[in-house]
Amino acid sequence: MTKEPDAARIARHRPPSGMASPRFSGIASFMRLPVLDPAEAPGRVDIGLVGIPFDGATTNRPGARLGPRRVREASTGTRALNAATGIAPYDLAACADLGDVCVNPIDVAATAARIEAFYEPLAAAGIVPLSMGGDHFVTYPVLRALGRDRPLGLVHIDAHSDTDDGQYDGSRLTHGTPFRRAIEDGVLDPTRMIQIGLRGSVDAADELDWARAQGVRIVPMEEVVSRGLPQVAAEARAVIGASPAYLSFDIDALDPAYAPGTGTPEMGGFTSREALFLVRALNGLDFIGADLVEVAPPLDPSGITALAGATLAFEILCLLAQAVAARRE
Ligand code: MN
Ligand code: MN
Repeated sequence: MTKEPDAARIARHRPPSGMASPRFSGIASFMRLPVLDPAEAPGRVDIGLVGIPFDGATTNRPGARLGPRRVREASTGTRALNAATGIAPYDLAACADLGDVCVNPIDVAATAARIEAFYEPLAAAGIVPLSMGGDHFVTYPVLRALGRDRPLGLVHIDAHSDTDDGQYDGSRLTHGTPFRRAIEDGVLDPTRMIQIGLRGSVDAADELDWARAQGVRIVPMEEVVSRGLPQVAAEARAVIGASPAYLSFDIDALDPAYAPGTGTPEMGGFTSREALFLVRALNGLDFIGADLVEVAPPLDPSGITALAGATLAFEILCLLAQAVAARRE
């Protein structure tokens, strides 16, 4: 563990300038950040970017296991300053690419255990993870590691609630069940949880009824449109309050016109611009982790979905860096 002053530590863990070294050169880490062994991260980095290349809990079209690799490549185009918000994340927090969780592509339960074991030491060291899926199941073991000591609030942006009980003869671990499992385990506080952008057909109303009965606030897309993004973001801030929270962004929240490369697309979603504005409007919340999931490169021949994922990941990184800086003060 180093005893470096914050300023020196932060200055050493940032991407090289694209003006000095071309963005298309070198090994494509997330945001062109230095790659660090997770065991070396405690005491050095504030925010760790992690890939979780697992889609073994997908119920429809697979492919998200290839998401981290493709988003890494797309993310090399992101720069150092968020011109819209003025946030320069690499001035606020030491960041590194901590590589991928070593998943077991054919065993959901074993992968869940490996993910949880990967994040536990990060959580213990106060490192804020920004994870790239993978299907949405991967959020569940991350929440188990991060919410162990106290239940977290959650801003969940998605076309789907992902609070199903079980699927296919009672399989309880799928990408349709992570938030039900996390609430049952006590690592999420459903009364500090808001789901934004839900739409489309469902197998049955049970899933939504169950979530509402726990106290989850569901803002379906119809309500987003009628009330507008600023009002919805204001409600999200009220629901989450000042306590620690997690942000989970399923790329299928975007309309398939903007993000076709995902396993379960739903018509009538956010434009890319609306999604960026929504994330920006969540600034100031005490986020202690976040993820961006369900980018499926085999379904994304043009790369537009990976670009949306990488761009949103940069916006989310800005929120996390802002939260890290606020906690340091
Ligand atoms: Mn989802
Ligand atoms: Mn979804």
